[in-house]
Amino acid sequence: MDVAILSVSLNVYSTARIAEEFERAGHFVEHVDHTKCSVQLGGDRPEIYMEAENITDEFDAIVPRIGTTVTRHGAAIVKQFELNNIFTTAKSLGITRARNKVATLQMMSQKGIPVPKTVFSINPYNVEGQIELLGGAPVIIKLQEGTQGKGVILAESKKSAKSVIDTLYNMNTSILLQEYIADANGEDLRIIVVGKKIVASMKRTSGLDDFRSNVHRGAAVEAVQLTPREKFIAINATKHLGLGVAGVDLIRSKNGPLLIEVNASPGLQGIEAATGINVAKHIVRYVEKHGRNSRKQF
Ligand code: ADP
Repeated sequence: MDVAILSVSLNVYSTARIAEEFERAGHFVEHVDHTKCSVQLGGDRPEIYMEAENITDEFDAIVPRIGTTVTRHGAAIVKQFELNNIFTTAKSLGITRARNKVATLQMMSQKGIPVPKTVFSINPYNVEGQIELLGGAPVIIKLQEGTQGKGVILAESKKSAKSVIDTLYNMNTSILLQEYIADANGEDLRIIVVGKKIVASMKRTSGLDDFRSNVHRGAAVEAVQLTPREKFIAINATKHLGLGVAGVDLIRSKNGPLLIEVNASPGLQGIEAATGINVAKHIVRYVEKHGRNSRKQF
């Protein structure tokens, strides 16, 4: 197969690993920087270009690894491949939804997937009421489009929560407020789903002086056994968002697992190291199963 990896750089572990496994399986892989892509509409048919090269009919499948900075453009490029009937491991709608924590949580709660109690608003005159809706302090305040734990604030008292929320509202920053799940104990689960199957899962444990268990913040990682309920949540969250490949983050509360977020381009380094599982190879197998079929329909 001819496969495009849509990414700004091949020089990141996950992208390089996926490319390596495609090549090892005998496929042809091309790195397509979606920030250099353009789409031409209004002609005989929509055409996709990477700089001057017409790549409309080049690929049997695409693997989007769209980062956090150019999500909208990246999703539009993915959408065009989708409209041209090229198989993608992540639909553009899924990428856009997963990028936005509020959109993800709205969809999850509609589908009956448990999430922490969450409030979002833009009303700066009712901050106390919003904190009360969560049962008071401590509360978590999150930037709606933050990643890697940047933009996740723990406000331990009502006073500090109020001042931080006031400030963010005044800066016109989109935030959400969430109950602080103390029983998560600075731990969360990262579950990799590929094509309706869980292929790897790990527990991330934050350092003593942090509640955020992001690998980029130096969390320790180890393989973990999931409960049937956790598996059910991870698979269904991925399905409902419209993603073929996803990293689902859960925390364990005393009332059961809660979904925190879903990542449409999950990093592979931490999970492959923690579990010894070749996650990239699972992605290749998934594309092999679906890629060509979609092309035949074209
Ligand atoms: P990011 O997208 O920036 O990684 P997350 O929403 O995943 O932000 O939060 C980062 C980390 O903070 C999570 O992995 C988890 O360890 C912790 N965390 C997030 N939400 C809560 C919460 N409501 N209660 C307790 N810990 C939380």
